[in-house]
Amino acid sequence: MTTRKNALVTGANKGIGLETARRLAALGFKVWLGARDSKRGEAAAEALRAEGFEVEWLELDVTSDESVAAAAKTLAARAPNLDVLVNNAGIAPGYLDALGPDGHYERPPSREDIADIKATYDVNVFGPVRVTQALLPLLLASPAARIVMVSSYLGSIARAAGNGQSPNVMGYGSSKTALNAVTVAFARELAPRGIMVNAAAPGYTATDLNGHKGHRTVQQAAEIVVRLATLDAGGPTGGYFDENGPLPW
Ligand code: NDP
Repeated sequence: MTTRKNALVTGANKGIGLETARRLAALGFKVWLGARDSKRGEAAAEALRAEGFEVEWLELDVTSDESVAAAAKTLAARAPNLDVLVNNAGIAPGYLDALGPDGHYERPPSREDIADIKATYDVNVFGPVRVTQALLPLLLASPAARIVMVSSYLGSIARAAGNGQSPNVMGYGSSKTALNAVTVAFARELAPRGIMVNAAAPGYTATDLNGHKGHRTVQQAAEIVVRLATLDAGGPTGGYFDENGPLPW
């Protein structure tokens, strides 16, 4: 039986997820890259292999029970000890359309589209719950598994409700607030079973999600995630962290 450390990163064919995968692979993990776009995913896996890393592409739609079950089956056969799960897949539909000419977000809650909010919650909240539930047997097979939820600096209630810089972003921000609560709930259940669960709060990062308007780098974001993915036993669980350390909920 393999003792190799396995990590699954969802939403890993680009952006923060891909950089997280690269960093975990550089630490010696065999990394499974999960997302929907297989062409992009295969290319990402190939690029990481060319850098000397051990990675596998896994087609995965976190909104689909069938897709998640199929991924769980593949992992059960090929990575029965899943040591790290990074729930990174996330979307912000309509975000780019609502950016004004100065890059300021200009859509108040009263004008957010319910369909967009539902789609956002489906990926950003129900996705991590679905994937975590499906992979729990494999995580429990690891001696010290870690789960990292990729939340956001917009995940605190105060920020999701609006501040000077980001007036609203209600659907997306509140999805991350919900994800923070999901993080605490799983952390409380799983801590006695040896699994630490934390949320990462990257700042505004230059990726496709925001048309590369973010002023932080994917390297900065991935650093937070990887730190939480590699915590020693006895470290924090049920927390919410940016690059400077723990944040208040
Ligand atoms: P990108 O748009 O670059 O990447 C998003 C990733 O999620 C892609 O790999 C995409 O691949 C995947 N994805 C989307 N929907 C699904 C789905 N249904 N199932 C599986 N994978 C899916 O965005 P970022 O790298 O910026 O975002 C990564 C995470 O970081 C998100 O959770 C985001 O909310 C969070 N974050 C981003 C910040 C930023 O400023 N950029 C700041 C704070 C947090 P595919 O479409 O092929 O499935």
